[in-house]
Amino acid sequence: MKDAFDRDITYLRISITDLCNLRCLYCMPDGVCRKRHEDILSFEEITEIAAAAASLGVKKLRVTGGEPLVRRGCAELCAMLAAIDGIEELVLTTNGTLLPRYAGALRQAGVRRVNISLDTLDPAKYSRITGGMGRLDDAVAGIRAAQDAGFAPLKINVVLIGGFNDDEIPAFAELTRRQPIELRFIELMPMGGRFGPEAYIPVGTVLERVPALTPLPDDGGVARLYRLPGGQGRVGLISPISRHFCASCNRLRLTSEGHIKPCLHSDRELPLRGLHGDALTEALRAAIAAKPAMHGVLDADHMSAAGRGMYTIGG
Ligand code: SAM
Ligand code: SF4
Repeated sequence: MKDAFDRDITYLRISITDLCNLRCLYCMPDGVCRKRHEDILSFEEITEIAAAAASLGVKKLRVTGGEPLVRRGCAELCAMLAAIDGIEELVLTTNGTLLPRYAGALRQAGVRRVNISLDTLDPAKYSRITGGMGRLDDAVAGIRAAQDAGFAPLKINVVLIGGFNDDEIPAFAELTRRQPIELRFIELMPMGGRFGPEAYIPVGTVLERVPALTPLPDDGGVARLYRLPGGQGRVGLISPISRHFCASCNRLRLTSEGHIKPCLHSDRELPLRGLHGDALTEALRAAIAAKPAMHGVLDADHMSAAGRGMYTIGG
């Protein structure tokens, strides 16, 4: 279905839990409050909403969170979502640490691709950025497990944080020389995490630090793509702030408690829980109609109006 700005809405991102086994400093506040199980959508409710979205033209689903793999039965939910009529692509975003346990089951369930978040290649810094909760070895084991399970091409997401990991830009880019991965640098968004505007650096910095990167044709996604000479993989630059892609935004987002968000950076939300049949489809139509032309995060000094941390929306 088209929105008011002639954008075709084909993509639903679904947060299945606010819980996470990590505490990334840019994502989670201190002392995350735990929702009760009955306050979050059941697998049946999520599937019903996704099917209604598919009836309006949604073709792609992303399962995310919080950390989706901490929710028991995530692979079973993925199988339910993959079976929905009209869904052509089911993908998942994860911090990777639980993939050694679940990668095979996710693949069998019909998940086409996984995106793995990894913000540093240094074990001590990994522990720091994950709020003391994460071990780099676990994330690396997750990447290997995803590759062994046949997920390809693997996308690795790196949030660029000035003063924290900008010194690692060349090392990250170098990973694409021998491995057929897509390494994506993402601009830090002001969502209430524990970094201020001074930590924001535009993704254009990557091209200054790695001048050998040469541009590749667009593949229709949000990342601008580059390759190192002779590189097996690709480098992607995602610039929600310095060069936003609102004009081609094709997404809706579903929170774990059942609110649909027309825009990541707006506080507008429509509750879907308890709606079925035509009422549910109409609410989804209303959400599509409510998509704004663009978000208001014009630079790192403009706090997102989302009114929620990223861990409650799904990134
Ligand atoms: N736990 C999973 C993970 O970390 O991949 C999925 C959820 S996480 C909220 C989804 C993505 O949002 C991750 O790639 C994370 O790095 C990104 N993210 C979280 N907070 C962000 C922020 N303030 N700015 C930019 N990206 C952010
Ligand atoms: Fe958890 Fe992902 Fe947020 Fe890190 S970015 S705290 S792994 S939800």
